[in-house]
Amino acid sequence: MKTLSEYLELLNDRPVKFTESDVNYLPAPEGSELRCAGCRHYFRRAIDGFTTCEIFRSERTDREGVLPDWRCSFFNVDGSVFHLLDKESEEETDSEDDEHGTDHDDDESPE
Ligand code: SF4
Repeated sequence: MKTLSEYLELLNDRPVKFTESDVNYLPAPEGSELRCAGCRHYFRRAIDGFTTCEIFRSERTDREGVLPDWRCSFFNVDGSVFHLLDKESEEETDSEDDEHGTDHDDDESPE
């Protein structure tokens, strides 16, 4: 049997999570289904309705909970499709292509 102090110690030993800025936590566009309320990492405590995210925490969400109409880059439902992260990765790849593209206006090499 565990003691009360071991119980309190257990509660103080909070798991490591991402920060708010790590995950890009922001309001979801109006009407979007890609939002915390539909995410597999969103949890709502039955006794008082306090909401948390499994993968990130901040001082703000420790106070007010995770807002159901916000979302982050790691939104997902099934653990394999990351709609927003995949989109961001594509955008990053596009901008990297732009930066390192072969279409150099300032290319002074002979033709
Ligand atoms: S969308 Fe992001 S912040 Fe919201 S519950 Fe899912 S993982 Fe957490």
